[in-house]
Amino acid sequence: MAQQYDVVIVGGGHNGLVAAAYLAREGLRTLVLERRHIVGGAAVSEQPFGPDFTLTSLSYVVSWLPPALVKDLDLVRHGYHIYPQGPYFAPRTDGSYLQLPDDKRARREQIAKFSAKDADAIEHWDEWMEGLGTVLGPLVTEIPPKVGSKKPIDLAKQAWLLRKLTGIDERKAVDLTRLLTSSAADLIEDTFESDAMRGVLSVSAVIGSWAGPRTPGTAYVIAHHHIGDLGDGRIGAWGFPRGGMGGVTQALASAARSFGAEIRTEAPVARITTKNGSATGVILEDGTEISASTVITTTHPQISFLRLLDSADLPADFVDDIRRYKSRSGTVKINVALDRLPEFTSKPGFDAQVHGGTIVLSESLDEVEASFQEAAAGKPSTLPFADICIPSVFDPTLAPEGKHVMSMFTQWVPHTWNEEPHLDELEAYADRLFARMEAVAPGFTSSVLHRQILSPYDIEHEYGIIGGNIFHGELTMGQMFHARPAAGYADLRTPIAGLYQAGSATHGGGGVTGVPGRNVVHQILGDRKRSQWRDRARIGARESKANR
Ligand SMILES: Cc1cc2nc3c(=O)[nH]c(=O)nc-3n(C[C@H](O)[C@H](O)[C@H](O)COP(=O)(O)OP(=O)(O)OC[C@H]3O[C@@H](n4cnc5c(N)ncnc54)[C@H](O)[C@@H]3O)c2cc1C
Repeated sequence: MAQQYDVVIVGGGHNGLVAAAYLAREGLRTLVLERRHIVGGAAVSEQPFGPDFTLTSLSYVVSWLPPALVKDLDLVRHGYHIYPQGPYFAPRTDGSYLQLPDDKRARREQIAKFSAKDADAIEHWDEWMEGLGTVLGPLVTEIPPKVGSKKPIDLAKQAWLLRKLTGIDERKAVDLTRLLTSSAADLIEDTFESDAMRGVLSVSAVIGSWAGPRTPGTAYVIAHHHIGDLGDGRIGAWGFPRGGMGGVTQALASAARSFGAEIRTEAPVARITTKNGSATGVILEDGTEISASTVITTTHPQISFLRLLDSADLPADFVDDIRRYKSRSGTVKINVALDRLPEFTSKPGFDAQVHGGTIVLSESLDEVEASFQEAAAGKPSTLPFADICIPSVFDPTLAPEGKHVMSMFTQWVPHTWNEEPHLDELEAYADRLFARMEAVAPGFTSSVLHRQILSPYDIEHEYGIIGGNIFHGELTMGQMFHARPAAGYADLRTPIAGLYQAGSATHGGGGVTGVPGRNVVHQILGDRKRSQWRDRARIGARESKANR
């Protein structure tokens, strides 16, 4: 006999856990099913080197989790704590460095070391980006209207969107259009002349993307990273969660359980079951049947719709959209345990603003573009760029005293490396990255106690993200807002009644935002209420007919 729940959630990543917590809080009998031995998905902390070192395996900094969500779910009581991240620090092989502190005067002085023109330009650039982030921010948290639908309800929602955009003047409308369509290089090179500034900014444009800074559309990713608020009002502020990113998902799991949700790990779902076009539950790989009239899938859409469901049960154009959905990546995450902190030639000694910041290995935009072109031509980058942080500088729970953990987010290897492990080539790639670090911080290599290399193959096969794309699918115009992940289904519903989607491949996703997980609950509760009204109206009509 099948086990019975109100809602079953496929996937125990942060979005599945957010949805579970909100639904259980509403009193619905909710079950989360996670394939791995641990919840968290791409926001997880693990100990591959033994209990001394806790690594933030994939994602490493938080910014986009809405403060209202943290409050609603009382996450602080469940252990959620953020250490604000320090500024960018970009050491260079010629012995100089660029730092971008929050303090405006100090930032200006830093940039002026490389170019007086760039120092003059930075304030306007930051204001411009923040202005666009402020326009885009609220759109990220909303459920997109069905653009193109002629149904009255959808037309009303499209009108609502247009009303929101009336706050934008003619200048901003053009700026937004340019932001969404330009290459990062077009934007950066128009404003800054020094390689130092161009190199750092181009990294934030291509992080997680299968695109170089000269690819049209990459300008948007810079703004994507300016949308964010840790709750202290600082747009674009980033922080390290205590315990690594797993600290966020452990707090979410604890909150969900406290509201009554059940979470099962090592529970891979084999099929989402349907009858007459409606979801009826799931079947696990071990044959266990679970029935629920509401199912939420948070797995990558090419898992949800091409593996867990039968394509024959879905409209052909929807299946076509999902098949064509682009999820390429060349990201390699390298996690390291260190015997000591790195000592930078350009800035010797310990500095919390350096060691506790984002250390960027990227000396020019051209170099970043050349690295991408190599990978696009089928070869791993000779000179990978890296976005590095050492969260143990703030968080003593991650490593023994005096030792540290380092997260190195790097790009690129060819996007086809999701198909094969490429182990030897990845070791050589990591060696090249370490040599790059050694050139600015002599002694780094000898300080490494252990290293873990997670390639697109691992990110797909171990963590379930097809192609290894960090956002569950590329953040390009054709895959955003009303187009994410398929035409007509950006509202978190699917062609199957009672089946909803809430992974990062839906709008609001790409990152640890919790937005799809929260918004799907709004849709589910609304749909349940409407269905109850319809049932009541039907019963009322039947009774009045019987009484006549
Ligand atoms: C290398 C890397 C670095 C990143 N860095 C950052 C960062 O610093 N900051 C940031 O905000 N974002 C970052 N991201 C993006 C962010 O981590 C993801 O967008 C987000 O965590 C995805 O959450 P999710 O809940 O939507 O999906 P996931 O976390 O992918 O959860 C889906 C879950 O479904 C499970 N699953 C798959 N198949 C099945 C099945 N058949 N049955 C049951 N369960 C199944 C998976 O195991 C997984 O746990 C990064 C991602 C990567 C890969």
